[in-house]
Amino acid sequence: MEREPIALGHGGGGRMTSDLIREVFLPALANPRLEALGDAARLDPVPGRLAMTTDAFVVSPQDFPGGDIGALAIFGTVNDLAVSGARPVAISAAFILEEGLARDDLERWVASMALAARRCSVEVVTGDTKVVPRGQGDRAYVVTTGLGAVQAGAPPGPEAIREGDEVLVSGPVGDHGAVIAALRNALDPGTLRSDCGPVWDLVEALLAAGATPRFLRDPTRGGLGTVLGEMAEASGLSVEVRDDALPVRPEVAGLCDLLGLDPIFLACEGRVVAVMPSEQAEEALRAWRRLPSGQEATRIGRVVQRAPAPIVRVTPYGGRRLCDVPAAEPLPRIC
Ligand code: MG
Repeated sequence: MEREPIALGHGGGGRMTSDLIREVFLPALANPRLEALGDAARLDPVPGRLAMTTDAFVVSPQDFPGGDIGALAIFGTVNDLAVSGARPVAISAAFILEEGLARDDLERWVASMALAARRCSVEVVTGDTKVVPRGQGDRAYVVTTGLGAVQAGAPPGPEAIREGDEVLVSGPVGDHGAVIAALRNALDPGTLRSDCGPVWDLVEALLAAGATPRFLRDPTRGGLGTVLGEMAEASGLSVEVRDDALPVRPEVAGLCDLLGLDPIFLACEGRVVAVMPSEQAEEALRAWRRLPSGQEATRIGRVVQRAPAPIVRVTPYGGRRLCDVPAAEPLPRIC
C-alpha cells in the first residue's frame, strides 16, 4: 500500500511530527540519548579538548552510485572532525523536507545515515524536522553538527607547513565530483562510484604510527586543488604538484575531458590530504597503505618557496604551469 507522503504537518511539532519521529527516526537511529526525546541530548564528558563542526547537505541528486545524502551527511561531518584530529563523539541532524517527499525516500536516507554512523562508532543523539511547502525546497536537505574529542598528535594547522614538506593524498581524487557531474549531465557514470566514506581510520593510523602531520584536510567542495591553494595561502608558500603523480581514475579523467572539468578541482568525499615533514612521508604512506581505504595512497608533490601562484603544476614533460584556485566550485550542490 502506498503510504502518505511527507506533509506540512510532519514539521508542525504536533502528533504528526512525533509519529514521524517514532516511525522513521527512532527505529533506524536507535540509541538512549535520542530516545530520551529531550530538548537537548546530555552527553558524558570526554577527556581533553572538544572539536565541533557543522555542515549543510544539499547534494543533487540525493541518491548516487556509492552513497546518498544520508551517508554523505554523516561521513562529511565525521571527516571534518577527523582531519581536525578528533574522534567523533556525537552528531545532531536536522532535516528540511519538501512537502510531498515519499516516505520510502526518507526512510532509505535515514537507514543509510544509521549505517554510516555505526561504521564511524558515533550516534545521532538529537535532531529536528521541518517541512517546507511543495516547490520551496528540493525533496530534502540535511544539516548535521558533529562533536569530537581531539586526540594527542592532532595536526596544528596550515601555519605549521614548512618548505620541503611532502604532500600526500590517501586515494584517487575526484570520484564523488565526477559521479555527480555525470548524473547532472545525464551521462552514465558506468562503474564509477562516489568515494563517500569515513577517513577517521586513516587519521588514526597516522597518529598511531607516531607521525606528526603538519596539516590534514578532506578535499570536499573545490577538490584537492582548492585545499592545496588554501594551505599555500595560509602558509605563505606554494605547492608544487606533479601532474603525472595525481591519482585519477581513467573513468574520472574521461568524464573530465568530456565535460571540460579538471579532476584536481573535483570533490572527494572519502579522501585525506596530508602535509608531512619529508622524513615522515614514507612511514605515513606505509601506515595508509595497510588500510583498505588507503591502498592507493600516494605522494603528489611538495611545499616550495612562494611562487607567483599558490599551485605550480609540473607537466609530465617537465613544464611548469602556474595555477590558481577558481572563484567558485565548478558544480553547485555537490555535497
Ligand atoms: Mg572538510
